[in-house]
Amino acid sequence: MKRPLRIAVSASIFHRDASRATYNGRPLSYVEQSMTDWLYEHGAQPYVIGAPSFDRLPLDAVDYGAALSGMDGLLLQGGVDVSPTSYGQQPLRPEWAGDRRRDEYELALLEAAITSNKPVLGICRGCQLINVALGGTLYQDIATQVPASIQHNDREVYELNRHEVEFPAGSELAALYNVTRGVVNSVHHQAIDRLAEGLVVLARSVDDDLVEAVKLAADPHDEPWVLGVQWHPEFQDPRDETLLPTAPLLRAFFRAIEARTHRPEGG
Ligand code: MN
Repeated sequence: MKRPLRIAVSASIFHRDASRATYNGRPLSYVEQSMTDWLYEHGAQPYVIGAPSFDRLPLDAVDYGAALSGMDGLLLQGGVDVSPTSYGQQPLRPEWAGDRRRDEYELALLEAAITSNKPVLGICRGCQLINVALGGTLYQDIATQVPASIQHNDREVYELNRHEVEFPAGSELAALYNVTRGVVNSVHHQAIDRLAEGLVVLARSVDDDLVEAVKLAADPHDEPWVLGVQWHPEFQDPRDETLLPTAPLLRAFFRAIEARTHRPEGG
């Protein structure tokens, strides 16, 4: 029997914070169970890659290539904002400062995955981080910086907020989902502004044209395989047929992994 695919999941981080009651303020690496459920449901085995605490263990004390060495692919979890300092800007408001330390940890993981040709799937923040890693920028806050935008983030209803996306001509997502448009959930107040060189847009929001999915432009061998979506398939009820289905994206990620895992020696 084939072993399950081993998927490294980047951790969300609670930094040391004496004012937080949970775990008495100690630093935590954590994962949302919707993400591990989604992987388990499709037969994969998630492994959360712990983040260094930064105060006890610095970023460069961890060998991220070694951390991924037994893994087949990397899944970048959603979560807190990307820090504007990670793409050469200052926060326009203090509450948009994001988490520079999580950026550093995930950027190191992403670089290690790309270097070792392990496929990467980015969800929400993960999609934004892929753009930032490759030199792109973000809108720090969609509502104020893109006045004509629709609501991409609604704190009242969270993942029940939804909108339509369109797959531009040639987008592989059209073939993947077998439609040219679909509805997705939307829980983000940041979005891709300047697209990084080397990325192609795979989906845009129908009503305001914002980027909703990107992929690293493939070389003839489709390497490395790095894809990000702005929505959260892991939050969805798989039986909800009003949204784009949850399985095709994960299956595409797994196919990219299988294509590498079963490659003959020297091929
Ligand atoms: Mn959206």
